[in-house]
Amino acid sequence: MSTSIEPCRCLLREMEDQKEFWTLVRDRLNNMPMEQRTEDGVYRERLKSCRECAHLVNGFCALCGCVVELRAARRYMGCPDSPPKWNGSPIPAG
Ligand code: SF4
Repeated sequence: MSTSIEPCRCLLREMEDQKEFWTLVRDRLNNMPMEQRTEDGVYRERLKSCRECAHLVNGFCALCGCVVELRAARRYMGCPDSPPKWNGSPIPAG
């Protein structure tokens, strides 16, 4: 009899058994310099794409190994898929 567990196609913040890890990730997000952060609307769109993506496994991107909530929050980072499901944006000159 197989006992395989299906991967969760969800974000880390939604996983009941990852609350402690999510707290660490949330702290990283909160401490990210504003000039490096993705705008809120774009961030939501990026995460929406991740949630619909077959490469999302238990809050991580199976292609790059990133927690998608962190990768998507960095303005300059893009999706590693080919073609990418979302693109990075340049950091504004300061
Ligand atoms: S391949 Fe792109 S859209 Fe899919 S989970 Fe990874 S970062 Fe998100």
